[in-house]
Amino acid sequence: MEKRPFITKDRLEEITKTYPTPFHLYDEKGIRENAKALKEAFAWNKGFKEYFAVKATPNPSILKILQEYGCGCDCSSYTELLLAQSVGSVGEDIMFSSNETPAEEFVLAHKLGAIINLDDITHIDFLEKTIGEIPETISCRYNPGGLFKISNSIMDNPGDAKYGLTTEQLFEAFKILKAKGAKEFGIHAFLASNTVTNEYYPTLAKVLFEVAVKLQRETGVHIKFINLSGGIGIPYRPDQEPNDIKVIGEGVRKVYEEILVPAGMGDVAIYTELGRFMLAPYGCLVTRAIHEKHTHKEYIGVDACAANLMRPAIYGAYHHITVMGKEDEPCDHTYDVVGSLCENSDKFAIDRKLPRIDKGDLLVIHDTGAHGFSMGYNYNGRLRSAEILLKEDGTTELIRRAETPADYFATFDSLPIYEELKKNMENASAL
Ligand SMILES: *Cc1c(COP(=O)(O)O)cnc(C)c1O
Repeated sequence: MEKRPFITKDRLEEITKTYPTPFHLYDEKGIRENAKALKEAFAWNKGFKEYFAVKATPNPSILKILQEYGCGCDCSSYTELLLAQSVGSVGEDIMFSSNETPAEEFVLAHKLGAIINLDDITHIDFLEKTIGEIPETISCRYNPGGLFKISNSIMDNPGDAKYGLTTEQLFEAFKILKAKGAKEFGIHAFLASNTVTNEYYPTLAKVLFEVAVKLQRETGVHIKFINLSGGIGIPYRPDQEPNDIKVIGEGVRKVYEEILVPAGMGDVAIYTELGRFMLAPYGCLVTRAIHEKHTHKEYIGVDACAANLMRPAIYGAYHHITVMGKEDEPCDHTYDVVGSLCENSDKFAIDRKLPRIDKGDLLVIHDTGAHGFSMGYNYNGRLRSAEILLKEDGTTELIRRAETPADYFATFDSLPIYEELKKNMENASAL
């Protein structure tokens, strides 16, 4: 499918007059339509709830939009919990799906009334010692091991993943938790990432539903919810077929009616913790070509770098690129599109067929709405960009300003050198 940006060149040029490149731009309309479609796809399930994976796009303005569609927050760290709290997500609107969890994070999660999802059987003791009790509602993350297959193709390798309890441990954990006073139970699993097939959730649901029936029978616990977690992917490449959330929702419903309903478990709520699916296509990284270089290869240097979007550098991930205003021109040039880090992996595209790029052209790097800005870092002293929301009415809102040198140096503020840094920053900005 052809990939088109959600914004025109003229509008983008206008926006850059207020907000210099690079920046991440989010499409409110797309976010809303997609959140609504997810809600409708699972409307058959009375307790359905999406806990948005905060790590994907940790911005309160985004979290607030999603809240309007009933979304809670899936957190895995202290600061993500604080962010959830700041937008009014408390109690069972927070899922705390962490691993290798520091004690103070369990304390805060419990104080906020979050549902705690344990990553390991040893965390039962750790949690009890840390917070002084076992909460009435508790969840465990399941990892059946082996390979996760759909039909005959391998989707991922849970046996090699650090997360979750084995089947035996899960049964044991539920018995222990029940004995310690837990009343409502949840099961969670995340067995494959960025799946671009409508089969992932239904296949995962079957695994979890079957285990849930056995657990309820053998341990006598009440299973309140089954959390399918994240993993629904998006078509980063133009030749990929997007997932159809309606088909996915129906697929899960079918297995639910086959397995849970006959077992008398028709009251189980389905939870999800989607990140990528909720946001990735509705964000892009906007950057400008500032250099061209003709050496052993053809390079286009842009004003964004891997510090703004890390996925290509660390996973070799494909992100589609549109040269604004040249959407219909032939892709008759081959470029490496590169950032400024002193790191040869800082390439947004390698040997990419694109229309001729001129210095000053605006480039849109697609699908950066999730795991984009949030994976950013400060290597080479590069600063994090702004995040801007393109609202439904076509206006823009700055939902996070760009970092400044003062932000970068802020953690030196207890040192005598800080006064010197401050003076230098002032002098440099006066140049
Ligand atoms: C990262 C993560 C998610 C979201 O994953 P996506 O691939 O963005 O859907 C959900 N739950 C947990 C526990 C995660 O670590």
